[in-house]
Amino acid sequence: MAWRSHGRSNAELVHNLRSHGVFTSDRVEAAMLAVDRADFAPFDPYQDSPQGIGYNATITAPHMHAHALQRLEGHLVEGAKALDIGSGSGYLTAAMAVLVGPTGKVVGIEHIRQLVEMSRRNIEKHHADFLRSGRIELITGDGRLGVPIEGGYDAIHVGAAAPSLPMELVRQLADGGRMVIPIGTGHQEFVQVDREGDQFRKKSLHGVIYVPLTSREEQL
Ligand code: SAH
Repeated sequence: MAWRSHGRSNAELVHNLRSHGVFTSDRVEAAMLAVDRADFAPFDPYQDSPQGIGYNATITAPHMHAHALQRLEGHLVEGAKALDIGSGSGYLTAAMAVLVGPTGKVVGIEHIRQLVEMSRRNIEKHHADFLRSGRIELITGDGRLGVPIEGGYDAIHVGAAAPSLPMELVRQLADGGRMVIPIGTGHQEFVQVDREGDQFRKKSLHGVIYVPLTSREEQL
């Protein structure tokens, strides 16, 4: 998971992430090529690093976006339902929407209203159809509670670090669904949770550094 995949263009960045082994899936590559990071990152969009987007939030580094998509790819199939918590710039919400296709649905939830508005403008630059059709729904609210839906989500991405595994979010996974979530205060681990029936399988993947999943007041 190196921080060395800088590119001079979106295509070069995506190519470098793949050649460094950050992801292997052709579908992830197609999604990352379809969503230009320049629409979401305020400066140096093709640097492999997180960047401030205001309100003490960051757009996550490209290698972590790619890694999260790779982990969720098998669940982000045509028609799937997905939840992106702490949707921030909207980049990953849009990439997930490419993967679930026109019959799928991605809900993005973010607790800073101004960031929700910014993400809407970002997505409108090249993917206004995702918003018009309802393939993407953007919600202002506390993502720690998730957004309960009938049948649950096939994939949940959490873009901010929770102090411990939030069971409320685990319960919102569909049978067979997968969540990826950074967990920890101080040292953080990137954790994958798979639901099978009433069973949950939790796997710690590696250390990460994310903005905390917290209250608006704490963050601001
Ligand atoms: N995935 C996004 C943002 C990552 S930064 C991107 O790559 O652009 C983490 C985001 O989580 C920030 O935008 C922050 O405002 C948001 N956040 C933190 N706590 C939250 C909460 N309780 N509910 C919803 N969003 C939250």
